[in-house]
Amino acid sequence: LEEISNLCDTFVSCHPNAGLPNEFGQYDQTPEEMAEIVGEFALSGFLNVVGGCCGTTPAHIAALAATVEHVVPRTVPVVEPHTRLSGLEPLVIRSDSLFANIGERTNVTGSRRFARLIQEDDYEAALDVARQQVINGAQLIDINMDEGLLDSEAAMVRFLKLVAAEPDICRVPIVLDSSKWDVIEAGLRCIQGKGVINSISLKEGESQFVEHAEKARQYGAAVIVMAFDEDGQADTAERKVEISQRAYRILTEQVGFPPQDIIFDPNVFAVATGIAEHNRHAINYLEACRLLKETLPHSLVSGGVSNLSFSFRGNNAVREAMHAAFLYHAIQAGMDMGIVNAGQLAVYDDIPNDLLQAVEDVLFDRRPDATERLTTLAANVSGVTRKLTDDLAWRELEVGQRLSHALVEGILDFIEDDVEEARSKCDRPIEVIEGPLMDGMNVVGDLFGNGKMFLPQVVKSARVMKKAVSYLIPYIEQERSESGVTGASNGKLVLATVKGDVHDIGKNIVGVVLGCNNYEIVDLGVMVPATEILDTARREAADIIGLSGLITPSLDEMVHVAREMERQGFDIPLLIGGATTSKVHTAVKIEQQYSGPTIHVNDASRSVGVVGQLMSAERRSIFVDSVREEYGRTRLSRASRDVARKLIALEDARKRKVELDWDSYAPPQPRALGIQSFKGYPLTEVVEYIDWSPFFRTWELKGLYPAILDDPVVGSEARKLHNDAQALLRQLIDGGLLTANAVFGLFPANSAATDDIAIYADDDRSTVCAVLHNLRQQQEKPPGRFNYCLTDFIAPQVTNLPDHIGAFAVTAGLGVDRLCTDFEHDHDDYHSIMVKALADRLAEALAELLHHRVRTDFWGFAPEETLTNEQLIREQYTGIRPAPGYPACPDHTEKQTLFDLLDVTGNTGISLTESYAMQPTASVCGWYYSHPRSVYFGIGKIAADQVHSYADRKGMTVSEIERWLAPNLGYDPQAEATP
Ligand code: SAH
Repeated sequence: LEEISNLCDTFVSCHPNAGLPNEFGQYDQTPEEMAEIVGEFALSGFLNVVGGCCGTTPAHIAALAATVEHVVPRTVPVVEPHTRLSGLEPLVIRSDSLFANIGERTNVTGSRRFARLIQEDDYEAALDVARQQVINGAQLIDINMDEGLLDSEAAMVRFLKLVAAEPDICRVPIVLDSSKWDVIEAGLRCIQGKGVINSISLKEGESQFVEHAEKARQYGAAVIVMAFDEDGQADTAERKVEISQRAYRILTEQVGFPPQDIIFDPNVFAVATGIAEHNRHAINYLEACRLLKETLPHSLVSGGVSNLSFSFRGNNAVREAMHAAFLYHAIQAGMDMGIVNAGQLAVYDDIPNDLLQAVEDVLFDRRPDATERLTTLAANVSGVTRKLTDDLAWRELEVGQRLSHALVEGILDFIEDDVEEARSKCDRPIEVIEGPLMDGMNVVGDLFGNGKMFLPQVVKSARVMKKAVSYLIPYIEQERSESGVTGASNGKLVLATVKGDVHDIGKNIVGVVLGCNNYEIVDLGVMVPATEILDTARREAADIIGLSGLITPSLDEMVHVAREMERQGFDIPLLIGGATTSKVHTAVKIEQQYSGPTIHVNDASRSVGVVGQLMSAERRSIFVDSVREEYGRTRLSRASRDVARKLIALEDARKRKVELDWDSYAPPQPRALGIQSFKGYPLTEVVEYIDWSPFFRTWELKGLYPAILDDPVVGSEARKLHNDAQALLRQLIDGGLLTANAVFGLFPANSAATDDIAIYADDDRSTVCAVLHNLRQQQEKPPGRFNYCLTDFIAPQVTNLPDHIGAFAVTAGLGVDRLCTDFEHDHDDYHSIMVKALADRLAEALAELLHHRVRTDFWGFAPEETLTNEQLIREQYTGIRPAPGYPACPDHTEKQTLFDLLDVTGNTGISLTESYAMQPTASVCGWYYSHPRSVYFGIGKIAADQVHSYADRKGMTVSEIERWLAPNLGYDPQAEATP
């Protein structure tokens, strides 16, 4: 078909059914009728190919031949080998076509906004991002969902299906961008027209390259080929060209790929990074571009332009100038298309002369100080100054500048001397704060806001600020008691972790960051009841209240606080943050309770912007209105989704449980039953098991360890942070400052038809000593898929199999509070946050270590296991350790069963709050399941029938269960109660 349609303008298939139905309702034409109909086309010069199908007889063909006998065959046009792509509309790229823009914003790794929208499930707004790109002139759009926390394949499919329903978006061809082939292939199944695969390469060798290329042909897609081979990414012009030429040969000669369907991407890398080897990155690209166009006929050259200016992240003026200048030269060198921010392309001729000069000096490596000069110029272009010296030259500066420098760089060493010097020169001590210190903090705020400074640096700056202020306070108070004058802040916030919850890293970070922006923070700490929060807010005349929480019961507590604010007549903004909170929950459950502004703010870097808008007389109402409108839309789309989601009856879901073959299964027998506890577990052993990636996430640095240490953007900060962490860790261990305790137990167990698990006191299984209650998925699923419940992984009572279950609890948080109090007393939030983050890591690591020992030794079902830490982190071991409160077992109250069973408090010192948060926070508990087919999953939404059954089994009321499982309810409990 493709060959025919390449040859013809119009293709008409002739078929005896192409006419009116006969009296029997069938379509069947006589040869004459057919000749007449088809001949019409032929005679009007329309028809190029005539084919026949079932029912066509030689007589039909003969009649047809007679009709068209005297028609002169049309001259077959020569089809030029142009690159022809399409969405709903065709996009033909000829050698003389203008540069083709590929929109880059629909990329979770390249656009923080898009990533957030996808993560928050706001596909509606994510579609607008795509639409905006097309409106702004993108001729193709690049879509990338490669993010560690996303189910990239599902996100890609879902987004593409939505795109397909938007003609104003899908009129352009789609570029499917992923480093995972599965994601690309899933995408290929969803797009119509002819899209582009971004990308394939020789990275994994020829055979995989060929395989992907053949698939691309089957799906009828064009491909972008990265200059990447078995030895890595090409950075010199020679390698870029050599790899591309090799790929071209394989594709055209071996796979039969049309050269016009191949697009080469010879890697645009960052320049002006301060690393000398990077100086030729732009030159190399341009050179490669020229050579590729000369030697690889009909193929195109593309590239991701924004990479070029990575080191100027946050300074859009400079970035746009760099992109415009680069494109100007690259297009001359033959670049046909590129991934760009379609709405943000500057025009070469509009770039101010001095800036253009500096940019081109960098691009063409024209002078050794090119980077430095552009950096200096960039500072003026963006209005921000930043000195990058690490020597002591700055000590020569005037004292105000020294203070600013110390703040921006987070240097504590000279702060008290400098502050004293500044104080002695000022009339009043407060002027030191309002002058040089605030100037410095403003620079920090700007750099952070622009993405040029990262959270750890800001927290270090805050430490300098606090030290300086604490030095000045006695002088200020003395003056105040003499004159009664006080300084002014930008506004006052009351922050608290809600009742029942003890997690506070995120809240503390927000407090520090806002403090840096001259907001006054009243931090009430953790487990704060609503009345205390509201009384304090009133007494302090707070401008804003911020609530934080990590575990799901806290969501409910936040709803309660909002309701109380309404009842007590508050109208100040309410901010919601913390790991389980979300925009959706805030919109659906919290905002509805309170008539004042209610806003979800999930990271410290956003808090500054949000609070700034709320405190601004001009911008506040626009901001508040837009949030309200957005949340209204969220509620609507949520409501329509909930209707769409179908739940099946619990009884039916149970019939669809995981079918395990118990007949041929012999449960592994533990080497010893009962409880074992460890006091003061040696931390040196635990350290080996640390998963560092979440540590960086805590500090809002994005990336996986260890790659993050070499990340072009955050790498250097990540390294510093990692070094600081290692140093503190050594202190904690050597000084015996943290204590880690652990307890676990292995017990005979069998499952019951009710989805519960009976845990027996001993091996004769006559006395049940605890019952573990599990929930079951109730979503309607296609045939062959299961409705999971953890209980399915334990042998049923009726099998009489001697199965077992394990339970564990570990902590590494004993000692944290004291250390943090000391650090905070010393105004050192940096180390206070660091201690908490490290203790969390150690607790998770101890859980990993203990699980490993249980598998290889105590239970012993995997004695030969030799997994690396990386494999452990990827959960490649046999069995699982689901934790109450996590998706497979979202009910936190089940922790009580676990705590009673193991006497966790007595054995480890961990206790539970009324919301079942563990204290100390750096604690982990869970169950061990040994079955090789056991997996983690999420319960999702459940129906009222299961809630009733579950309440019954647990001996609790339905409304209690509805409260604990609020996030999992697939129905509205209030609506349910009315009839
Ligand atoms: N390496 C990580 C490990 C913790 S997260 C770290 O250091 O932070 C992984 C743990 O979360 C699992 O071991 C399990 O206890 C829990 N978990 C993850 N997904 C779960 C699910 N769907 N249901 C229950 N528990 C889950």
